Amino acid sequence: DAVVHWFKRDLRVRDNTGLSMAGKLAEELGRGNGVIGLWILSPQDWEAHLVSPAKCDFELRSVAVLGQELAELGIPLHIEVVEKRRDVPRRVVDLAKEWGAKNVFCNLEYEVDELRREERMVRMLLEEGIAFHPQHDDCVIAPGSLKTGAGKQYAVYSPWFRAWVAHLHAHPHLLQERPMPDKNPAGFREKCAHLFDTPIPKAPESKSLSAEDKQRLTALWPAGEIAALERLERFLTEKVGRYAATRNFPAENTTARVSVHHAAGTLAARTSVRLARDVNSTKKLDGGNEGIKSWISEVAWRDFYRHVLVHWPYVCMNKPFKYEYTHIPWENSPTHFSLWTRGLTGYPIIDASMRCLRSTSYLHNRLRMVVASFLAKHLLLDWRLGEQYFMTHLIDGDFSSNSGGWGFASSAGVDPQPYFRVFNPWLQSRKFDAEGVFIREWVEELRDVPVGEDVHDPYGAGGEAEKVARRNGYPRPVVEHRFARERCLGRYKAGIGRE
Ligand code: FAD
Repeated sequence: DAVVHWFKRDLRVRDNTGLSMAGKLAEELGRGNGVIGLWILSPQDWEAHLVSPAKCDFELRSVAVLGQELAELGIPLHIEVVEKRRDVPRRVVDLAKEWGAKNVFCNLEYEVDELRREERMVRMLLEEGIAFHPQHDDCVIAPGSLKTGAGKQYAVYSPWFRAWVAHLHAHPHLLQERPMPDKNPAGFREKCAHLFDTPIPKAPESKSLSAEDKQRLTALWPAGEIAALERLERFLTEKVGRYAATRNFPAENTTARVSVHHAAGTLAARTSVRLARDVNSTKKLDGGNEGIKSWISEVAWRDFYRHVLVHWPYVCMNKPFKYEYTHIPWENSPTHFSLWTRGLTGYPIIDASMRCLRSTSYLHNRLRMVVASFLAKHLLLDWRLGEQYFMTHLIDGDFSSNSGGWGFASSAGVDPQPYFRVFNPWLQSRKFDAEGVFIREWVEELRDVPVGEDVHDPYGAGGEAEKVARRNGYPRPVVEHRFARERCLGRYKAGIGRE
């Protein structure tokens, strides 16, 4: 018999709960049984979820690596393209029948549509006499496991994080590595020889990268689980110790840059937390090295936002977590939105960030907060425009982390920045890119501003900085900072709680 593992956002063979359990069951069933891997691309699903072309390409490259890793275990990876996403469950059922499988495993995705799909599949498979086994794997701790003293879901990060750490210390098996499946027996491999070496499909036209972008992004973001583990190990050897002190400085490349792997599932968050814990002298999640502690607490944000999403699924439906923030009277100027996306706002740190995002499909966390705050509070554009723009451009686009980040910066989300806290882009810039290294890297027009001159606000500073900005046609600020701040406070005050 075949035991099927359906890969989705878990493109790896190591430390994969569903795959591991599929392997275990095949072994228990005895000789002649083995595992078949399945991956289905639904172009409509990619469209519906606004997946960026960079991320689509990363997934396809990761699937190619997954196929090779599985082949080493004698496990075939069958790949199919199913245009419409509502047809995917039927296709999984039909393939399972065709392969004579009695069991299908997968790891759960927690967004509303995905949970509904899985619910439908339990019934569809059962009607065919096939058992469906969706597993908790995507979070270190399964959503719903942590409750406040009053038995409720946490809506504030700090107490939630303390509970998260305590729970893991009390249940250390949650961090244990899930064993890889054994090799498929030779007889089984022969029976399904025709399923090996399925070609990797091409991305649909609307999600394709130009040859130049593909080359650049492939070099920047090597795909697959081996690359993920190498990147993580390098970070844990070379950088994590100083993470707490250095993590906010974008020009210094001090963070792990593994979000792309967490998002595609080429690296489990569990693996990241375990390996970080293991390099801590205390072998604990708290105590010991500040950098390690701080990094683990960042990875935990990912779990936090997923727990929130499962408990308050309306955040998946384009609604703010704080429903009283539903009717902020936004300006929604298409011109301002366009200037923001193209990095032409006249605020160097914003423009450098947006150009970096366009070129690398990635942005440092501090800068994500700064540009998100600028969009919602300085430009008074509905934060959902920015949220969607990020999804369609990030290589690590991830619904709950992205929506959580936008909710934080716009003050409409869970445990957010208070609405009256409006980032001053110049102060952020002077604090976190003091020498203007990041700005000069991305804003060509300001590259020649001499070191020591105020590159953060060239028109405000005057002198050589202004001369260079004028000469190279760098724009003046699209909105005056003090005016924007006052306008924002007024609008938020007027909008909060409005029916
Ligand atoms: P590190 O600093 O090394 O952190 C390690 C890991 O922890 C990350 O890889 C990531 O998986 C997780 N993590 C860190 N910070 C956060 C956070 N604030 N929320 C959730 N997880 C976190 N992250 C995404 O993965 N996808 C997104 O689409 C996304 N959109 C964002 C939008 C906004 C407006 C903001 C403010 C943040 C967003 N983040 C998102 C979170 C964060 O910016 C990135 O995870 C981080 O910059 C990735 O770089 P890194 O891997 O070097 O992170």
